[in-house]
Amino acid sequence: MAKFIFITGGVLSGLGKGIIAASVGNILKGSGLNISIMKFDQYLNIDAGTLNPTEHGEVFVTADGAETDLDLGHYERFIDCNLSHESSVMSGQIFQTILENERRGEYLGKTIQMIPHVTDEVKKRIARLAKKSEADIIIVEIGGTIGDYEGAHFLEGIRQMRRDFGADNTLYLHAGFLPYLETTCELKTKPLQNSIRDLASYGIQPDIVFCRADYPISKKELDKISLFCGIDKDGVIPLQTSDQVYEVPSLLEKYNLSRVIARKLNLHLRKSSSEWQKLVARIKKPKKQKVKIALVGKYMAMRDTYISVIEALKSACWWNDVDLNLGWIDSEKIEKDGAEKYLKQYDGIVIPGGFGNRGIEGKIAAAKFARENKVPYLGLCLGMQIATIEFARYVLTTSDCNSEEFNPKTKNPVIHLMSEQSRIKDKGGTMRLGVYKCKLSPKSISYQAYGQRIIFERHRHRFEFNNKYRKILEKAGLRIVGVNPEKNLVEIIELKNHPFLVGSQFHPEFKSRPNRPHPLFRQFIKIAKKFNKPNNEPNRGRFSRKHGFSKNNIEMKSKLGTVLKI
Ligand code: GLN
Repeated sequence: MAKFIFITGGVLSGLGKGIIAASVGNILKGSGLNISIMKFDQYLNIDAGTLNPTEHGEVFVTADGAETDLDLGHYERFIDCNLSHESSVMSGQIFQTILENERRGEYLGKTIQMIPHVTDEVKKRIARLAKKSEADIIIVEIGGTIGDYEGAHFLEGIRQMRRDFGADNTLYLHAGFLPYLETTCELKTKPLQNSIRDLASYGIQPDIVFCRADYPISKKELDKISLFCGIDKDGVIPLQTSDQVYEVPSLLEKYNLSRVIARKLNLHLRKSSSEWQKLVARIKKPKKQKVKIALVGKYMAMRDTYISVIEALKSACWWNDVDLNLGWIDSEKIEKDGAEKYLKQYDGIVIPGGFGNRGIEGKIAAAKFARENKVPYLGLCLGMQIATIEFARYVLTTSDCNSEEFNPKTKNPVIHLMSEQSRIKDKGGTMRLGVYKCKLSPKSISYQAYGQRIIFERHRHRFEFNNKYRKILEKAGLRIVGVNPEKNLVEIIELKNHPFLVGSQFHPEFKSRPNRPHPLFRQFIKIAKKFNKPNNEPNRGRFSRKHGFSKNNIEMKSKLGTVLKI
């Protein structure tokens, strides 16, 4: 039978509860246990698919095609597992099930109540994952902050689980924040104490508390929380903000987290594996070279929108033993001032996924710049569609050429609505979602990267490459190197006579792992690294380009766009 670890959060949102949950999973998996993990979100939405990325961040897609909260991406990366729709539950799903049951008369004339009907449905979802995953430990993260009006049914559900399964099989973790008060130069513990008290008012006394802070936390503060909140001293664990999230498992292990968990849950752990420590050492090792990558998107204010892309780029850089210098380029700025101004100092260009018309022409200009100057280019879903439109417009010189998404009346829809999409009216959960097969051409950059002919990748799109234009585009030098064999859909394009211009209709970023970067990202960075000149001299390497680097590279970057050192 599985044991259950619940994680709640207090004081404020955004303190990294998802990373903590993922790190607990990472530590326990490293100690030889079989882990599964899930998140409950309080929203009345059914899933994250219809949420605005500027407010909610990336929509992470699981292999079975669920559109989920971005925390699932952290879970998959830290625990190195493939989760399913069972791991992301929003309140909307719970209520939808209850109301459907009601219509079917399943409650036999009873009034339907938050307790027991809604709470039972919460518990059922946890039990379902436990049964399906056959994991030793199920980690359950409760989204939101203690005290939120909408979270009560989740708290009541998990409270009951200690009664149902016993103290040996259930563990409550709570994460809170210690604000720093400048006038007295100290961290304050009262808000965290209050959030633990709020949690207690729901009948849950946490066994372990994580104290997040932006400054070092002294033993005095930890002891105070232990005494005032009735938590074992070794159950109060400090976690200072780290600029490297992958270090969090070892930061927690410094305080013997796995030993404390093992004691409380009566577990026998193996000596932990050193795999993850090796990764952290690789990340921290000073690198001689930096690779400058431009991410051309439109949600620049909200970086979480591209979180899996960024993590995939970072891992690919560590793999290639280079540092990543990431430039955030707003495609609308390119529309105004042209691509060269913003892109000329970069070693590679990424166009990530996206929807809607805004900033599209800027992205097309970025793809044109990459093609003409032989700058390595990686197009992810929308980025593949953009590269296709660009090629059709400027190499084939096809006039009025576009995607039907941006101009439904375009004369030359090189990207068009997928046939099965035309009848669909509902927006939620109706795209081409999840894993599909793709067959690679042996003589392609992609095959070189993957090293295998058949691959499986995750999708989330409504539009696709229009096969009507396939022949004529191929004749002009566009290479169709990946195709879905069942439906003959174009999945990967490349370009003749270009060191790396690859566009995939799928999202490779979702399958990338910190210690196993995705092959396309790995290869992209490998080529970008060759493109790069460490001393900022104009590139005279294999792939000559029109534009050399400015000697004043660093200064220019700060004028032209934010550069984030990761
Ligand atoms: N908007 C495009 C489509 O729906 C691309 C989607 C994406 O990038 N995920 O096909």
